[in-house]
Amino acid sequence: MLRSVILAASRSSQVERLVATAPYTRDVVRRFVAGAATDDALRATRGLVDDGLAVTLDHLGEDTVRPEQATATRDEYLKLLKMLGAAGLTPAAEVSVKLSALGQMFDEQLAYDNAQAICAAADAAGTTVTLDMEDHTTTDSTLEVLSRLRKDFPSTGAVLQAYLRRTESDCRELSSAGSRVRLCKGAYKEPESVAYQSAREVDKSYVRCMNILMSGDGYPMLATHDPRMIAIGEDRARWFDRGPERFEFQMLYGIRPEEQARLAGDGYTVRTYVPYGDEWYGYLMRRLAERPANLVFFGRALISKK
Ligand SMILES: Cc1cc2nc3c(=O)[nH]c(=O)nc-3n(C[C@H](O)[C@H](O)[C@H](O)COP(=O)(O)OP(=O)(O)OC[C@H]3O[C@@H](n4cnc5c(N)ncnc54)[C@H](O)[C@@H]3O)c2cc1C
Repeated sequence: MLRSVILAASRSSQVERLVATAPYTRDVVRRFVAGAATDDALRATRGLVDDGLAVTLDHLGEDTVRPEQATATRDEYLKLLKMLGAAGLTPAAEVSVKLSALGQMFDEQLAYDNAQAICAAADAAGTTVTLDMEDHTTTDSTLEVLSRLRKDFPSTGAVLQAYLRRTESDCRELSSAGSRVRLCKGAYKEPESVAYQSAREVDKSYVRCMNILMSGDGYPMLATHDPRMIAIGEDRARWFDRGPERFEFQMLYGIRPEEQARLAGDGYTVRTYVPYGDEWYGYLMRRLAERPANLVFFGRALISKK
């Protein structure tokens, strides 16, 4: 219930104005977002890489409705990739891209062209790209763009969301050799017709999907903070004899950093998803929806008189 309300608010411009102008919002944002500028993203990446973690960088922004905005997002990724390469931070750092930020909502071909340019820049910088997955109305289009991109850039990664009923079948499709697939639970408000609604059903689906990916030929990227899912992931890695070069764990910047360090210390590949930029509202609201404790933290910061 609370999750649905917060996810609905994540698409309200009125609530966005309220949250963005609240006095201590910046303090909360700083916990989950590396900063506004490309240099902030680079600084955070350097720190994480020095600590033995891999990184995927996300320039915040989504649901773009104007071609010039989509072009600006593409150009920011091109600049970022050049800087990552020059700083020697590739291949440890790759980038995550939302097609809706590249024009998918109004022109799929434009989104493809922009994504293709980003993949080419990533390739030149010695790294790769993962396409984030958004709400279910975009899944077919995103997988279509993915399959076109993979013809030229086979390491382009996909994201599949365990809450969608279709995902087991998508995992089977995408578990072939060389296929990089991030498995997450899913962060959007979705109807019962397409998505499991209870946490228990989503968890069971996550495990079924993990089994398919970990027993397949691709490169699974297990994106979760859930201790049970992580323990099952470690178990499957032993069972299917997958070393640190054959799968990875992924977690979000600012969430369970000590667990990220613990897994990396145990010899696993761990990648931290690092968002940066000004357009943090939708991202922050999805993080709040995932965990009531984050909401308490947020509420405290908003009413704080410090
Ligand atoms: C790297 C990465 C990339 C992602 N990309 C996408 C994407 O492209 N599309 C998409 O829809 N979603 C994406 N997500 C979000 C994902 O779908 C989930 O919404 C999010 O990860 C929360 O699910 P969870 O598996 O962590 O477990 P949850 O069910 O949210 O949490 C389970 C348990 O994890 C622990 N936990 C969770 N959060 C915290 C915390 N803040 N502090 C301490 N413990 C905590 C708690 O024990 C909690 O009970 C991504 C997530 C990650 C990590």
